[in-house]
Parts: sequence; C-alpha cells; structure tokens
Amino acid sequence: MDHLITLLNNSKNVLVATHAAPDGDAIGSLIAMSLALIGMQKRVVLYNESPIPAVYRFLPLVHHVTAHIESIAAYDTAVILDCGDIQRVGDAASLIERIPEIVNIDHHLTNTRFGACQLVDVQACACTEILWRLFKRMNVEFTRDLATCIYTGILTDTGSFRFSNTNRTTFEICEDMVACGVDPYQVAQCVYGTYSLGRIKLLNLALDSIEISENGKVSLMTMTCEMLAETGTQPEDADGLINYARRIQDVRMAVMIQEQLNGCAGRKSGAEQRHPYHISLRSDGSVDVAAIAASFGGGGHRSAAGFSMDSTLPEIKEKILRIAESVA
Ligand code: 5GP
Ligand code: MN
Repeated sequence: MDHLITLLNNSKNVLVATHAAPDGDAIGSLIAMSLALIGMQKRVVLYNESPIPAVYRFLPLVHHVTAHIESIAAYDTAVILDCGDIQRVGDAASLIERIPEIVNIDHHLTNTRFGACQLVDVQACACTEILWRLFKRMNVEFTRDLATCIYTGILTDTGSFRFSNTNRTTFEICEDMVACGVDPYQVAQCVYGTYSLGRIKLLNLALDSIEISENGKVSLMTMTCEMLAETGTQPEDADGLINYARRIQDVRMAVMIQEQLNGCAGRKSGAEQRHPYHISLRSDGSVDVAAIAASFGGGGHRSAAGFSMDSTLPEIKEKILRIAESVA
C-alpha cells in the first residue's frame, strides 16, 4: 500500500477507469478515487466506456465521466478500479495499457494481477472498501460526497447487505460513512426507489422468461433486445433482475443470458443468429461460479461472476443445462 501511496503522490496526470457496463461499486470507486486525487491537486480524467446508469447520476462528478481518450501520452498514471482483468475496461484497454504506471485496485477472486502496482483484496466486500482503507492511510478527508461514493459501492455490491460478502467491516465502514454525512435513505431512494414504469414492465418479461433445469438446481433468465425495445428500456435496467431467479427455492445457481445491444443492430432475425451475449452467474455459495465464468474466459467472485460470448441463444442454454446436470 505504501508503494501505491508514493506513486499517487508523485503522479500528475491520472486516468481513472472502471469496467464497462458499470455497477454501483465501479462508479462509486471511479468517483471516490477521482475526488481524492482532485483534492491532491492532480489532473484527473474519469473514463468509462458505457453511459452512467440513470440511478447513479445523483453521485458527484458523473457528468465529467467521458468515453473518449484524447491523447494517451498526456497521462503518467492509470488507476484501474473494480476490474478483474484490464480488458474489462473495454475497447480502450490496449491503449490504456500503454500509460507508464498502471495501478490495479480490485476485489475479484479471478484478478489477473495486471499492472506493476496492485492493491487486490479478494476479502473486500466492494472495491470501495479497499479505497476506504487506502484513504484512511492517506489521511484523505472524507467529505459527504466522497463518503456517499464509498457507501454506494458497498450498498450495491453487498446487495443491500444481503450477500455473503457482508460482514462486520461492512457495517463499520458504513457507520463511519454515515457519520461523515451520508444519508442512507437518500441513497436507497436514488438507487432502488426510482424505477421507470418501463423497468417494472421489463421485470415482468424477465420473470416470465425464467426456466428451471430438470434437477431444479439451476434457474435461467433471458433478456433479449426485443424485450428492451418493447418496454423502452436500456441494458442497465436489467441490473439486479437476476436476483429474482436466484431466490427461488432449491436453486443453487441462477443464470441470466443477456443479448448485447451491439449484437442487435442490423441483425437478421431470431434467437438462432450468432451474436454477442453477456452471461451473468449467481450462486448460493455452494457453486463456485467464478470458476465456471473463468472457464468461458470471464471471471468474478465465488457467488457472482460473468462472461461474454458470441453464440446463439439455444447454444448457450444447452451449455448451461449441461453444467446444471453436475450441480448437486
Ligand atoms: P455481472 O453478472 O453483474 O455482470 O457481474 C458479476 C460479477 O462478475 C462482477 O463482479 C463482475 O465484475 C464480474 N464479471 C462479469 N463479467 C465478467 C467478465 O466478462 N470477465 C470478468 N473477469 N469478470 C466479469
Ligand atoms: Mn465490485
């Protein structure tokens, strides 16, 4: 950690980046790190390939997040947050890799240990937990804005304190952040309390799509571009829906197959066409879904992981159902 602190102190122009299709922990980490660096008088650019989901637009600095990197030569340091591998950043990964100092701050079990400077803690419930510890050591001032980012990362990555990564430290940090001015009700209202009608209708279609494997241990949810179009929603509106498939009695592993929008443009027709899908996996802890995701080139945590593949819907379902047979 001390090497990292020296590196951050010596940096001047920093690119801060997180994974594409960001969740609350990715965005909370991106903004928290940027606020801390700005407070240290660094020049900071906040990078994310995807639009920031509407529910996170209450956070500070979100309107400064950019999907364009003007000149990579402008940066001495890149801080990559909440990414198990650098490719998670998206198409710009190979460009960002050329920045002289790469800092890898992450909590994924499958972290590939990229970057010369690493702060990886797979026990941390969220990437913002690692930042909280780092900022304490650096004597960074926890303003209400900064504390709100840390809190949002923990709230969302623990599934509102329901997932198995929730522990005493989780609550200690949240208590500290509330003492710094975080309003838990306000955050909860923004993140969970303001669904568009389209999102509720999408939930309806998603619930209707649920299939259960023959042995009852695996649930399968499907989200297509047609479903988004029909409800006037965005891919971000599917965030969290997999948790419904996961709570079904006796289900050990929930799978959500999500057709990617870039695969829909100019597509012929039907599920039989080969195009990009993202597959999300969740388990009750008895199945190591990080290992399953890794076997398809993805990664994640023991009970929450994902991967992408170019395929057809029937082919993906067949692969999942084959895995389901071995789930005890
Ligand atoms: P989700 O299913 O919500 O996209 O992701 C669940 C967890 O797995 C998150 O922690 C996410 O960062 C990770 N994850 C999802 N897709 C990938 C992937 O393609 N590669 C890696 N390394 N991790 C992934
Ligand atoms: Mn995370």
